[in-house]
Amino acid sequence: METDKLMRIYQLLYDRYGPQKWWPADGRFEVIIGAILTQNTNWKNVEKAILNLKQANAMTPTSLHIMEPECLAQLIRPAGYYNIKAQRLKNFLNFLFTEYDGEVDRLETIPTDQLRNQLLAIKGIGAETADSILLYAYNREVFVVDTYTCRIFFRHLLIEPEGGYEQVRYFFESSLPDDSDLFNEYHALLVQAGKEYCKPKAKCNGCPLEKLPHEIDPLAY
Ligand code: SF4
Repeated sequence: METDKLMRIYQLLYDRYGPQKWWPADGRFEVIIGAILTQNTNWKNVEKAILNLKQANAMTPTSLHIMEPECLAQLIRPAGYYNIKAQRLKNFLNFLFTEYDGEVDRLETIPTDQLRNQLLAIKGIGAETADSILLYAYNREVFVVDTYTCRIFFRHLLIEPEGGYEQVRYFFESSLPDDSDLFNEYHALLVQAGKEYCKPKAKCNGCPLEKLPHEIDPLAY
């Protein structure tokens, strides 16, 4: 039943927007860097920061690992919160070099739950960032939950407002087929619908989901 509802929503979004081709990045390492940089900012700012890193020939684990934190902070300045994010990148790189000799491909063989716990243990990497890395860099069947996901599914009466991240993630993962390609596309489509229509003040008129049952509570999300 929930599966049918979730797949109906997916199909409506896909019919409107088509394939989103996420994650927009050159390779696994860049996905990880982008996932950390995109915290609390929009993607355009992340792109500028990534371009700075590329122009400085610094988009490799070794280059970023040996770079002074102040220099790294200046390069990623367009992404906002640059001192904090530089430290978060350093935290990830320290983990990568300590545990895996600086090779992102070596994480490929680590079981999903174990890798998720390792990522969550890195200071500054929360559930959404860890799951974005797992799904988009390592193709794992992990559903990424964000504000758009919660807002859309709460308004469509499919989740409770007090449901925490893990509860919402479980709802998706237990209701949908185990398919990382589906999870990849679904999350990207929800972001698109959220940005365009399901804002804090909903614009239901013209939204791909407007014909489905929903209720707007202006106090939620
Ligand atoms: S904007 Fe309205 S119709 Fe669209 S997802 Fe949000 S609540 Fe649903």
